[in-house]
Amino acid sequence: MKYLVTGGAGFIGSHLCEYLLDRGHRVHVIDNLSTGRLENIDHLLDHPRFRLTVDSILNPFAMEPLIQDTDMVFHLAAAVGVKLVIEQPVATMETNLMGTEVVLKLAAKHGTKVLISSTSEVYGKNSKLPFAEDDDCTYGPSTTGRWCYAYSKALDEFMAFAYMQERRLPVIITRLFNTVGPRQTGRYGMVIPRFIRQALDSKPITVYGSGRQSRSFTWVGDVVQALFDLSESEAAVGQVFNVGNDERVAIEDLAQKVKLMTGSASRIVYIPYEQAYNRNYEDMEHRLPSLRKINRVIGYRPTMDLERILRQIIEHMRREAGSAKAAGGNSLLLSR
Ligand code: UDP
Repeated sequence: MKYLVTGGAGFIGSHLCEYLLDRGHRVHVIDNLSTGRLENIDHLLDHPRFRLTVDSILNPFAMEPLIQDTDMVFHLAAAVGVKLVIEQPVATMETNLMGTEVVLKLAAKHGTKVLISSTSEVYGKNSKLPFAEDDDCTYGPSTTGRWCYAYSKALDEFMAFAYMQERRLPVIITRLFNTVGPRQTGRYGMVIPRFIRQALDSKPITVYGSGRQSRSFTWVGDVVQALFDLSESEAAVGQVFNVGNDERVAIEDLAQKVKLMTGSASRIVYIPYEQAYNRNYEDMEHRLPSLRKINRVIGYRPTMDLERILRQIIEHMRREAGSAKAAGGNSLLLSR
């Protein structure tokens, strides 16, 4: 098969590319390298079945030949991380809304199947746990910057369903819950790489708010497997699926766990949201996926619990820091 992966130089995209190449498929990536990084796909650039186009998904002239020439699109390009969303709302909305519109319009024109990656953010501050795919979504006001991400991704989902209904486009929608693994950086606010880096650097581990808010973290390998299995499933077409892990942890307990597992002397400090995000900010209290639907359709179960996930990422970040040091890059990786 020939696959187009938008945002393929990003954290999840690069793992998906590896997975597809390993299975003998051809992969074309389009990425504007804004949050995606060339170093994520460096090792793939010489692969005979891999191609990269550095351009924006907002550019229909770049996108059309790619979509025309592919069997399926994994649409992963999106604004990434709460920090970036709050700091760059225009880019967030443009990428999420206009970018997805370009993908859907061209895919409909050429009859190309699309898997859209959406997010657990679309559940908003719904307090009924776990979140099931047809549960209500509850958002805050447009004056609170954080919600622009949830609104924009929810609109992407509406748009995908609309193209399915009116233009018969085969689409699958996936809501990803806090995906973690090697190559994710803490630069865009993501808590696990941030906590581990802080612990390894013996710097304070920064818990925002009360620390009682909770998340469930999914290993990137489980996510990639789920995306691929859904893409192969006829029963998945026209449906929306949670892709996550149903082991939940409070953020302050996560900080303790990271401190313990790294053997770090770091202090755990509590930082008010206003100070952390510099804006009128509202956090999502809890997030936990129901995995019943995805389990029923493709037999999905996460393979990695939090302990193993943390162990793997700690090892990876230690290795990365070690090789940067050996290469004379000293604290470049550690300071991000
Ligand atoms: N968080 C934290 N300290 C950090 C970064 C994040 O306490 O240095 C918190 C954040 O406020 C949220 C949770 O960790 O409650 C997960 O944040 P992340 O940005 O990773 O993902 P989100 O679930 O908010 O999209």
